Amino acid sequence: MHISSQFDSGNIHVVKADDASDIVLTIPKDNQSDFYQWFHFRLIGDTFETHSITISELAKSAYPEGWKGYNVLASYDRENWFRVPSEFDGDNLSFSLTLEQPSVYFAYFIPYSYERHLDLIHSAQMSLLCEHRFLGLTLDGRDMSMLVIGEEEPEKKKVWITARQHPGESMAEWCAEGIISRLLDEQDGVGRQLLDKAVFYIVPNMNPDGAARGHLRTNAVGTNLNREWAEPTALKSPEVLYVMNAMEQTGVDMYLDLHGDEALPYNFVAGSEGIPAYDARLESLENAFKSALLTATPEFQDTFGYEKDKPGEANLTVASNAVGQKFACLAYTVEMPFKDNDNLPDQVFGWSVQRCQQFGEDLLVAVRAVVDDLR
Ligand code: ZN
Repeated sequence: MHISSQFDSGNIHVVKADDASDIVLTIPKDNQSDFYQWFHFRLIGDTFETHSITISELAKSAYPEGWKGYNVLASYDRENWFRVPSEFDGDNLSFSLTLEQPSVYFAYFIPYSYERHLDLIHSAQMSLLCEHRFLGLTLDGRDMSMLVIGEEEPEKKKVWITARQHPGESMAEWCAEGIISRLLDEQDGVGRQLLDKAVFYIVPNMNPDGAARGHLRTNAVGTNLNREWAEPTALKSPEVLYVMNAMEQTGVDMYLDLHGDEALPYNFVAGSEGIPAYDARLESLENAFKSALLTATPEFQDTFGYEKDKPGEANLTVASNAVGQKFACLAYTVEMPFKDNDNLPDQVFGWSVQRCQQFGEDLLVAVRAVVDDLR
């Protein structure tokens, strides 16, 4: 038997792997950080043999609540990922799989590789509707890329979308893929009308270093990018600095920041009710966006989510609050589950690639509902 993680977004530590019935693993921390939760590894074993795996020391992981009701993802072909029933005892996550093939991958969520990210950027730039813009280099020397979709004209609304500040939240980039493909589909009425009225600035991966390194929450030097928006620096958070500078150049009329939530088994949004700039206009935009999304898809709900900020008490280091405040615009953090949508559970796949992409397409229906009123 053999367990490895030396590949894009790989992350695991082997404690014990000499007996298939008692494999013990732990999850290494993000570099220069105490966060750990993302895992991704390959197991090579004997076909038809049952492999029982325990990932231990999870009580101190970033989100211990995330393991309750969570089922591990596995794939034999690195394309189709299925859930493996898992049990959590407060510190250990245990699951068993009888191998159908000699090699299998396990991951916290369906990985979105750096290569796929580059494919996404380059297939998008081939569309006449889309222009690729280079923002700068990350600390590990990767490229930060932005897609500008739609003809830039002053009267058009500027809609900004960023994904994956937290690199382990790969659902955010799968969702961005759905958004991009709908906007670039010239036969799609929603996309076409949106591009008549708005330009989209999309950064599908805010944290390519963290993603490739197999981090949950931080960039190459252990910075949580979604706490850097008050004062981003070239040394700690160049990714945020580039995007803030680009936003200042274009202006922002609406902002969506795509994330995944480890604990809550729902899709939900977190608004900017706590920013000083919050007013009746922003409140009515938020409500119009949410009600359109509730109508568009049963994958969205507005009952479960984060506690609302009190007036004036928003954390302005968080992207959606900082951008909402700076540009006095509609700004949402969008959260998808690692587990499933409990309003519409799926035993085999849980929250999946297809559902992330569809949710991205549906988000555009809600953008269309507010686009005329954004400025
Ligand atoms: Zn996040």
